[in-house]
Amino acid sequence: MTETSGTSTKTSATRSGGARPRVAIIGAGVCGLGIGWRLAQAGCAVTVGDRDRSGMATSWAAAGMLAAHVEAEPGEERLLPLLLESRAMWAEFGRDLEAASGLAVDYRDEGTLVVALDRDDTERLKFSYDYHRSMGLEMEWLSGAEARRLEPHLASGVAAGVFSPLDHQVDNRKAVVALKAAFVKAGGALREHAEVEEILVEGGAVRGVLVGGERVEAETVVIAAGAWSRNLKGLPDHLRPPVRPVKGQMLSLAMPADAPLLRHVVWGPGICLVPRKDGRLFVGATVEERGFDESLTAGGVFALLETAWRALPAVEDLAIDELWVGFRPGSRDDAPILGATPVDGLVLATGHHRNGILLAPVTAEALARLVLTGRPLAGTEPFGIARFARGAVAA
Ligand SMILES: Cc1cc2nc3c(=O)[nH]c(=O)nc-3n(C[C@H](O)[C@H](O)[C@H](O)COP(=O)(O)OP(=O)(O)OC[C@H]3O[C@@H](n4cnc5c(N)ncnc54)[C@H](O)[C@@H]3O)c2cc1C
Repeated sequence: MTETSGTSTKTSATRSGGARPRVAIIGAGVCGLGIGWRLAQAGCAVTVGDRDRSGMATSWAAAGMLAAHVEAEPGEERLLPLLLESRAMWAEFGRDLEAASGLAVDYRDEGTLVVALDRDDTERLKFSYDYHRSMGLEMEWLSGAEARRLEPHLASGVAAGVFSPLDHQVDNRKAVVALKAAFVKAGGALREHAEVEEILVEGGAVRGVLVGGERVEAETVVIAAGAWSRNLKGLPDHLRPPVRPVKGQMLSLAMPADAPLLRHVVWGPGICLVPRKDGRLFVGATVEERGFDESLTAGGVFALLETAWRALPAVEDLAIDELWVGFRPGSRDDAPILGATPVDGLVLATGHHRNGILLAPVTAEALARLVLTGRPLAGTEPFGIARFARGAVAA
């Protein structure tokens, strides 16, 4: 993506005649750390603060799929180019991150296989395949036998499949650990267990944040607090990003690392199966509107395991490794909220919903560009908070 030559946004960088602004980022997930890393590399004085340990919230709970094609849904056509752009950036972003941190992120490019388990599934799969093809996305229709040739442990009754060669994966947990290391190595200041109590806004401009009663001065404040972004104190009401938690239950199973059951990411009806290099098999995820309810439920776990078993019967012998709950930051239109606000120096990077790992590279680049130059990255203009203003018309 190139820098847009469109409307310029006033940020502290432009106000202060080009001097690098002090930046405070609220939230050390994949978004906050990615933006912080890019800004620290550019020489900004950046503090990333998290009320907990960094990277341990939703970015830890994710499956790490970079599934721009199979995730594409009718009605989300405006989001698709951003997903595709970010996915195309991931391989290089991952290599840069590994070089800067000295840590692996396990980017894998075997591709993603979607399977239908019965006739009804096949009809649904055909519908989404036709939609994806109509959008020009590279996908290949497979018979059940062809799907099983790609993944021999799939159930013998698998009826059909679609192979998406460009939908890759990354180990999101390793990625946030690497982002933290790269950020700190680039000179960034990380404050963990440091809840931002208030955003300080005075005279139409942001002045910093309040942490533990201490004023942390900054000319730019980035809200990257994921599902918790809406309720930060000090935000003017009309700028509260309309973000809610969308609960997801997930679990991992232990495969023999030297004989994994799968090589590709596999999607079945309502589930995804994501094999990791260390032998874990992630099984995700429920989609529930239950606020910040942290409970694992029998129904949620049963649904995941039952579908996993129908697709891949050998899972029944695998030990359960871990179960967890995460909260996708869902915006009103399920697209991220990126960019400047009418408060000078206050910028948003939230609402990434089910695609925050996938969107991490473009989010980091877009927000770093905005803070450094005062201009949005071309292609990110439709994702500002202005689209939610009363009377706003979708572009
Ligand atoms: C089950 C599940 C599966 C998923 N699978 C995928 C996937 O396969 N691919 C994909 O691309 N995406 C996936 N996602 C979505 C993805 O995880 C999120 O979109 C992404 O992690 C959001 O990153 P973030 O940095 O915005 O939020 P987070 O990682 O939640 O980071 C926000 C941080 O802000 C901190 N914070 C909150 N309030 C404050 C405060 N007042 N002061 C200081 N710190 C604060 C929190 O502690 C947290 O660490 C999945 C999500 C879930 C739940």
